[in-house]
Amino acid sequence: MKNAMTIDVEDYFHVSAFAHHIPREHWDHLPCRVERNVERILELLARYGARATFFTLGWVAERYPRIVRAIVENGHELASHGYGHRRVAEQPPAEFRADVTRAKAILEDIAGVAVKGYRAPSFSINGDNLWALEALAEAGYRYSSSIYPVRHDHYGMPEAPRFAHRPRQGGVLELPATTVQLFGRNLPAAGGGYFRLLPYAVSRWMLARVNRHDGQPGIFYFHPWEIDPQQPRQKGVGAKARFRHYLNLSRMEGRLIRLLEDFQWDRMDRIFLNETR
Ligand SMILES: [Zn+2]
Repeated sequence: MKNAMTIDVEDYFHVSAFAHHIPREHWDHLPCRVERNVERILELLARYGARATFFTLGWVAERYPRIVRAIVENGHELASHGYGHRRVAEQPPAEFRADVTRAKAILEDIAGVAVKGYRAPSFSINGDNLWALEALAEAGYRYSSSIYPVRHDHYGMPEAPRFAHRPRQGGVLELPATTVQLFGRNLPAAGGGYFRLLPYAVSRWMLARVNRHDGQPGIFYFHPWEIDPQQPRQKGVGAKARFRHYLNLSRMEGRLIRLLEDFQWDRMDRIFLNETR
């Protein structure tokens, strides 16, 4: 079974946990690492014959159109992470609509391909803002991968279905981040900080369990800054945010390689949108 590999294309200073420490006005003056890191990811995927979906920030695409074109030229799916990396709850519906419309237009103009998928910053779609799925359909998107059916301090919708579903009629298809159900609880199994925290064997077991026990493809995600242990260190952030961001960065690339060796990977649209099979 093929699983979906996804990359949220943003830089180290875009992460929500740093939002209170790095004002948006500073973004343009910080040293960017995303271009080189995406190039490294493209090399890595090519080496293992894997295809992936790149949920790319409009902010990044505007400044680095070359990587947007490289993503498409390498046979990957170009998708949207919105423009300015605001959580859905931080934006009134009209602003959300403008953000996702702007990001889609920028990406499509640069790459010349249709953008079908969207991932909300920090998996910030939940039971309080399912209207966003209708707004995405209105903006021309076909699917979202923005709900994480887990309990977490910053995101999550533990009661959401764990696999593809359409929470709102007239809204896009939702493809939730992968979880494993154990002892009546959903455990996060989609990557991110947990992938760096847990031993690799645990992550491998969880993904294999979703494939075998649930008979479903998994959706794995990571960020370009996670394979970049040399990134500038952010001062003044709390201990928890620091731990989550910097933990085991130096081990990430090696673990990704094992993941690429142990499983087969493809784009979200090929795995989940029937008509592109
Ligand atoms: Zn993000």
